[in-house]
Amino acid sequence: THFGFRDVPVGEKQKLVGEVFSSVAGKYDLMNDAMSLGIHRVWKRWFVATAQVRKGDRVLDLAGGTGDIAALLKDRVGDAGEIVLGDINGEMLRVGRDRMTDRGNVRGFEYVQCNAQYLPFPDASFDLVTIAFGLRNVTDKDMALREMLRVLRPGGQARVLEFSEVQAEWFKPIYDFHSFKVLPKLGKLFAGDSDSYQYLAESIRKHPPQAQLKAMMEAAGFDRCEFRNLTGGIVAAHTGYKV
Ligand code: SAM
Repeated sequence: THFGFRDVPVGEKQKLVGEVFSSVAGKYDLMNDAMSLGIHRVWKRWFVATAQVRKGDRVLDLAGGTGDIAALLKDRVGDAGEIVLGDINGEMLRVGRDRMTDRGNVRGFEYVQCNAQYLPFPDASFDLVTIAFGLRNVTDKDMALREMLRVLRPGGQARVLEFSEVQAEWFKPIYDFHSFKVLPKLGKLFAGDSDSYQYLAESIRKHPPQAQLKAMMEAAGFDRCEFRNLTGGIVAAHTGYKV
């Protein structure tokens, strides 16, 4: 297909995840705004603004979905740069490409349907690799992190933006109420689908918290690993470099 589809092992959980995102692809952007009160836009802007990237760079945005991160990255790499948007789900890629065209972004983008665990790219082929709100859905996260390191050039940066562990004790019950009571209702209201949003809340709770993800990045072989909490730890941005 025009996405440059490569045949890669997908697996049962991955198929399920794929279906979850197929069912929400069209409503995905609206839901993000509703669930986070628009704050996800601020997180994403900060994430891209603070990434190590220059004009003319080649960047891989994994689990790129509908392309929020890719569009922001394009401004940073400029006309000479190139963004590869990789996602396991063809429907999300299709919506992403349409959105990108609507934003007037056509040149300098490539869309590749791929599993983060099996990247169809040569070693050292990117200056920066990002994954935003995607690692949580990957079955073998260690494997995906190793793949991110492999395709990165020496000196390049990898960045992970993901839901994490809320830090303040007083905020935890409020956050739980929002996640398990409000979210599924919003999902039903906007997307006619509460199950996908129940899955979302659960996947956030199961995702490794800040220190653990940092240790996983170190174990994968990344250098100078660090993280920063955003909005009290609702989200954290992890960074690592390839030596
Ligand atoms: N990065 C986008 C953003 O921040 O708006 C999209 C995030 S969306 C919550 C998660 C995306 O991860 C979905 O588009 C889904 O298809 C993709 N995904 C899930 N598992 C994946 C995997 N193993 N490899 C690549 N992409 C995956």
